[in-house]
Amino acid sequence: MAANPERPQSSAQGAPAAAPRRKAGRHRGEGQWAVGHFTPLNGNEQVKKDDDGLNVRTRIETVYSKAGFDSIDPADLRGRMRWWGLYTQRKPGIDGGKTAILEPEELDDSYFMLRVRIDGGRLTTEQLRVIGEISQEFARGTADITDRQNIQFHWIRIEDVPEIWRRLEDVGLSSTEACGDTPRVILGSPVAGIAEDEIIDGTWAIEEIHRQYIGNPAYSNLPRKFKGAVSGSPLLDVVHEINDVAFVGVHHPEHGPGFDVWVGGGLSTNPKLGVRIGAWVPLEEVPDVFGGVISIFRDYGYRRLRNRARMKYLLADWGAEKFRQILEDEYLKRKLIDGPGPEQPAERWRDHVGVHRQRDGRFYVGFAPRVGRVDGATLTKIAELAHDHGSGRLRTTAEQKMLVLDVAQDRVESLVAGLEALELQVNPSPFRRGTMACTGIEFCKLAIVETKARGAQLIDELERRMPDFDEPLTININGCPNACARIQVADIGLKGQLVRDDDGNQVEGYQVHLGGALGLEAAFGRKVRGLKVTSAQLPEYVERLLTRFQEQRTEGERFAQ
Ligand code: SF4
Repeated sequence: MAANPERPQSSAQGAPAAAPRRKAGRHRGEGQWAVGHFTPLNGNEQVKKDDDGLNVRTRIETVYSKAGFDSIDPADLRGRMRWWGLYTQRKPGIDGGKTAILEPEELDDSYFMLRVRIDGGRLTTEQLRVIGEISQEFARGTADITDRQNIQFHWIRIEDVPEIWRRLEDVGLSSTEACGDTPRVILGSPVAGIAEDEIIDGTWAIEEIHRQYIGNPAYSNLPRKFKGAVSGSPLLDVVHEINDVAFVGVHHPEHGPGFDVWVGGGLSTNPKLGVRIGAWVPLEEVPDVFGGVISIFRDYGYRRLRNRARMKYLLADWGAEKFRQILEDEYLKRKLIDGPGPEQPAERWRDHVGVHRQRDGRFYVGFAPRVGRVDGATLTKIAELAHDHGSGRLRTTAEQKMLVLDVAQDRVESLVAGLEALELQVNPSPFRRGTMACTGIEFCKLAIVETKARGAQLIDELERRMPDFDEPLTININGCPNACARIQVADIGLKGQLVRDDDGNQVEGYQVHLGGALGLEAAFGRKVRGLKVTSAQLPEYVERLLTRFQEQRTEGERFAQ
């Protein structure tokens, strides 16, 4: 196996050069390469040093897919396969029999989740049709739209992976670095290039970032995952607050439209909101600045402890000012222009659901599946509808929703009817619109409780109980203490755990967090001390909470205030 180089080199594509090697400093013990700390300090770092995660592809194609699951090297299985978007999924039947009844040969954990990265959420009807076919042929019909604009399959067999890659890559999609300690999918505004109110279209930058940095061995061994986003929408629609680096559209009073740079956001344990470094970057410089930030993370990021490795910890130690100075002096070799921050969005919803006029006079139609769950057959039908009504373009959103673009006015009604016939609502209740759920116990090995089905039930129940509630609201449901569904920044965040019911039995339930928010008022929800609800009590609890809010609200007050 080819080992990672002792010291990363600058990319062949002209990305910023790596920082000069420094003498060991105060943080030498954190395992930063930039201070000469190249000896791996934990098992994950050793695995990455032994072989680049990208190299596992050849073994999957030539060995594992032919010899089967049992032939997979454990270090590849538990580590490097993630570099190609593959995780083993939860062993069926170990959740107390809540999943479907399975045949004996299915009671193993030799299946994978496969994540397809969809940078900028940009899809064509042909791509979506292929995703739908793969889902039906290889993934038992499963397909979930994630809150990072990706689509995930389950029940994938290692034998089928090369064929799935072939089909994805034939239409310009891939699972390259969809997981792992890599630059993950680059979020983008779902309405880039079409919205009437757009400040600047970031599409070129996303494509260029992908071309320069994704699948590039110079950036494939980061301390931890690295999340990026680019959006020129005034609705702030790419959760810039919780990305490692985000470029947010702003008008500079002298230089015009460009991007405000945010760094160091991240949830999970010890959540941190991203901070501005006060710099304005024109579109053509976004890829370079992205390269500088990711290089800082690679070189100075902490590699000693996995739970202190995200870039937010480096930011917390350095602060925004020092981060900008290192970026300018050591990586970009020039000063950045000072610039303004974004303005308050005009709307609270930023998912683009509904029918909206594009700046070319056509319309885009955003619709809401329940908690991001679709299936292969439905995706194929969505592709057909988009083909028949639009120009062949679709987008996914960071709220587990989807859009069909470029619909002529006289075709909107027919498209809306077609989507609603598939149970995909264009005018959903606030409950359907604002509820997100992570993968949960059905497939995720870390999960403690069910999430997707519970979220769907909650939506149905709240729609029945509170048909007149009409207020922007976010309810985010996680299956464990991690933060895949962003519970800390939801109005109502539900963290899955086992709780006691009234009879003292241990049952599935949630720790409640209230009052989280994104946008310019971004804040983490408060953990309501002692407030844990069982799954069975959940609809009643949320109804009580919302009813009390309606009764006691003051003029203009919204739920999260
Ligand atoms: Fe799995 Fe937990 Fe993430 Fe949900 S929040 S997908 S249960 S790790």
